[in-house]
Order: sequence, then C-alpha cells, then structure tokens
Amino acid sequence: MGTINAPALAELSRLLEQPGHHLLPDAVWVSGQAEVFKHLRDVQALSLGPELTDAVLCPDCMSGAIRPEQVAHGSQIGLRAYCGECGWVPLAKERARLWQASPAKVADWLNAALGLRSRHPVTEIVKGVLWHLGEREYKRHRHSLFFGCQLAANQADVDKALEKASAPGMDLTITTSEITVLQSGRLGSRVLVPLRAVAQLRKGSLVIENLEAYIDGIAPLVVSDETSLRLLETKRVALIDGAEVPLSPQVFKFLKVLLDADGDEVHKRMLAKALEIPENFKFANIKKRHAEVFETFVQSDQKGYYWLHPDYLLSEGG
Ligand SMILES: [Zn+2]
Repeated sequence: MGTINAPALAELSRLLEQPGHHLLPDAVWVSGQAEVFKHLRDVQALSLGPELTDAVLCPDCMSGAIRPEQVAHGSQIGLRAYCGECGWVPLAKERARLWQASPAKVADWLNAALGLRSRHPVTEIVKGVLWHLGEREYKRHRHSLFFGCQLAANQADVDKALEKASAPGMDLTITTSEITVLQSGRLGSRVLVPLRAVAQLRKGSLVIENLEAYIDGIAPLVVSDETSLRLLETKRVALIDGAEVPLSPQVFKFLKVLLDADGDEVHKRMLAKALEIPENFKFANIKKRHAEVFETFVQSDQKGYYWLHPDYLLSEGG
C-alpha cells in the first residue's frame, strides 16, 4: 500500500485543480491508474458525483463512445447506453457518472493532522476554494491555517477572505495550486505551502511534516513530479513522482550497474558478479521489496538481460 500513496496524492492534487474537481469515468479505466483512483475512493477523497458523463467508451466492444441515460426498473433507477455495435448496454454507475475529488475531505484531513480537530471546526470561507482549518501557535505566535485549491482563478476573493480571517501576516495556506504562478499576483506576499511538500497520504489520512520550515520562510516552494535516478549516487534514493524512495545496498548496486552501462543490455551474470551473489539468483527476490522502483526504471528480456528504461538515462553532466 505504501507505494500507491505518493501517486495517489499526486493525482488527488492534480484533480483538485481541475474545473469542478471532475474526473471522466473513462479516465479512471484507461489511465492505467485504476488502482490509484480506487484507493482514493476507498479513503473518500474521490466519490461518484451526481452528473452523468456525456460519453463513455462502450464497456463491451471498447470501440465506440456511448451516451449514458437513466432508465427506470420499477422503483429502481438503472443506467444504460445505446451502442451501434452492441445495442443497449447496461452501465455500472462507476462508468456512467462523473468522478469527483473532494477538497473538503483534504481540509478535514489537514485539520486532524495539524491537531486542530478538538478545538477548531473546518469552515469553508470561499466556496469550493478556501477552508479555514483553525489556529495554532508556532514559536509563540498565533497563526491561522488554511487549505486552498484553484487559487489562481480566485485571487481577489481569497486575498479578501484571508485578510478577514487572520491577523496581518499570520496566515498560512496549504494548497494544491501552483505556487510559482501565484507569486507575481495578489497572493504573492502570503505564506503559501505546497500540499505535497508537507503532507503524505498514510492509512487513509494525511501526515504533516516540515510545516515550521515554511513559517520560518526557509523551505523551498517548488514541489517536483520528478521521476529519475539523478540522486542515485549522492543520496542513494530513486525519485518517483517527486518522492525520494530509499534503496537497499543491493538494489543501489543493481541500478548503478545499469546506469553505468548507459542503456546497454547487461547480462544477469555481470549483475551477479557486481552484487557478489550466485549467478542463478532469482530476480523476483531482489525486486520484491522495490517493485515500484524496478517497474519504473528497469527493463528486461527472457534471455537474462537487463537495461535501464531509456527515459531515465542520465545525460552527460546531468
Ligand atoms: Zn459496444
């Protein structure tokens, strides 16, 4: 479950910046990320909205777009669509209704993660955009904490609401919005913190780290989605969707051999030698604790050759 949390928070952050926080049902099934979306639905950050989508791929033939409609079965309402190939096709609600991300859920998680739940209820102060999470003292100063999304399109309203709800200079807003875009605008002087820089999704809620660094103004404001092996040698981590994934010494050596081969195929024999293990080692045993790392960076064939995915070769001097 650990490996699904980073991409899930990345997807959730992206969806909260979409108009209406919507996700088309087809996107759930054809994205290759169905597991990520299912996880977000399990933790109630995603739900099925009331509206039907305009068009969805026919689940039977997967070739034509069909338009969902409601149909009454006695007292029950079902969903169906007409496909030129297949005729009337019944549709599950997951395939017919728009999926929707919930910013209120994120506000709720943050309120709990910041230890505010018992004293401060979450208040929505700009509809669908800004939530007041509560007040908390840092270094003897009382700060007002907020969560916001889609800030760029609502700068004036957000600025006014922050002014009203906090003492001057004491507001801090955690957000899914792109902060570099906001820096030149009306919210440029506000303390804005990227959600993904301070929050991690764990066990169906958020854990907060490093928030104080933002209050002191010493933390970087840019979150990255970077997936690379750029920090392999300096920090012994792989970067996946901006998250640093620590590597065991064995996996580090495995990746280092492939990195040094610069995209060329390396036979299992050579890897065994570098790793000082028997030549008939089971790749599955090495892979199992770092499945996401291997699936992201390493390709192989049936003949025992391994190589680095061409997207992740490091360029000269990079
Ligand atoms: Zn069809």
